[in-house]
Amino acid sequence: MKLIILDRDGVINHDSDQFIKSPEEWQPIDGSLDAIAFLTQAGYTIAVATNQSGIARGYFNVQTLNEMHAKMHKLVRQAGGEISGVWFCPHTADSQCDCRKPKPGMVLDILDRFQAQAAETYLVGDSLRDLQAIARAGGKPILVRTGKGMKTLEKDGGNLPPGTQIFDSLLDFAVQLVRPNQPGASAA
Ligand SMILES: [Mg+2]
Ligand SMILES: [Zn+2]
Repeated sequence: MKLIILDRDGVINHDSDQFIKSPEEWQPIDGSLDAIAFLTQAGYTIAVATNQSGIARGYFNVQTLNEMHAKMHKLVRQAGGEISGVWFCPHTADSQCDCRKPKPGMVLDILDRFQAQAAETYLVGDSLRDLQAIARAGGKPILVRTGKGMKTLEKDGGNLPPGTQIFDSLLDFAVQLVRPNQPGASAA
């Protein structure tokens, strides 16, 4: 089982400090849908693990989140890819849940569901807590420069989990993972 877990906001779609609260506000980052299609067609199973505290804060409800994800699934399929499952944490940071990243709860649940080996599983994220969640589960952290990625590098660049690899975008990661010897490829 070749498994890749994706953070959502700032990796697949554009993030907002005001939260993504509706399907209309859910807009894909250029190349992210093609990246998922590319990985799907290369034999990877794709899952999403996303913190969505906007639910606990009352900014949107689970039904609206499901509508956002219906849009995401539709656009990914139109591009030729497949997302096999979406895990979300609806809680706030002070709720002491086990699922909110940097806790590894969602990652561990996904590994169990797909019977995947942690050591062979990537998680692509734009925040330190994404990288910490996969590192705590024993997997491979990937930081992208989209979303909050540049800020993460400025603020936490010295605190990244060991072995973190850095790419410009999900598409950059996907291309280099599948075709590592492509001319012009520049490993981070
Ligand atoms: Mg993010
Ligand atoms: Zn949670």
